[in-house]
Amino acid sequence: MSRPGLLAEASWPHITSRSWPVALLPFGATEPHNTHLPYGTDTLLGSEVAARVAAACIGRGTNVIALPAIPFGVNTTQLDLPLTINVMPSTQLALLRDVIRSLEPHGVRALVLLNAHGGNELRALVRELQPSTSLMLAIVNWWQAADPATFDVPGDHAGELETAAVMHVAPHLVAANRAAWGEGRSHPSTLEGVRSGVAWMPRRWTQATVDTGVGDPRAATAEKGEQFMTAAVERIAAFCCELAVADPRRLWAPPA
Ligand SMILES: [Zn+2]
Repeated sequence: MSRPGLLAEASWPHITSRSWPVALLPFGATEPHNTHLPYGTDTLLGSEVAARVAAACIGRGTNVIALPAIPFGVNTTQLDLPLTINVMPSTQLALLRDVIRSLEPHGVRALVLLNAHGGNELRALVRELQPSTSLMLAIVNWWQAADPATFDVPGDHAGELETAAVMHVAPHLVAANRAAWGEGRSHPSTLEGVRSGVAWMPRRWTQATVDTGVGDPRAATAEKGEQFMTAAVERIAAFCCELAVADPRRLWAPPA
């Protein structure tokens, strides 16, 4: 049976028989994730969160449609890692513009960019495209949508949070031999200005990491993943339901 609110699994009559005020577009990536998670981790998690958010909203009477995830992300500093697939921010901009144009004539009021990859910096895209579309555009980084207190150290890339999430969603894709998982150690910048936060520079992944991971995954459990993802889905769904009835002319106002 198809999952509710998942465009890739929906039929034409189903789509045309109701309105879809909010669409979700997951942004993934294709890149190594330490030694124990698959290249498609970000795409997998973004897709799953989007599907659960759509289902939760539909369960509350708000039609939210989850679009297929974009499987490639911005990986300009990981191109020396085999078969990492990079798309440029300018390519993302062109693609997002086309997606927005496709949605505009069909009653969609808002598009939520559901990001699952740190290298996808989507704000600049929204700043560029918002003035030329009637759709309300919003960004959610799913891994920041809930309280990470359940984790010892959530980590940054293939760390405890991401590992726990994959253990919950697709345990068969996590390397079974936990003893062989990398420690996810990362090196600080050699520049004081970057270490202190005065300056930012993108990390050269092969210099900054040992096993491509950033963050120790070894305390991850499927239970922690479920707890975090459930909380994140709940908060993102609540936002999507708000957005479905929001007035774009009154998104900021004095408190009532
Ligand atoms: Zn990831």
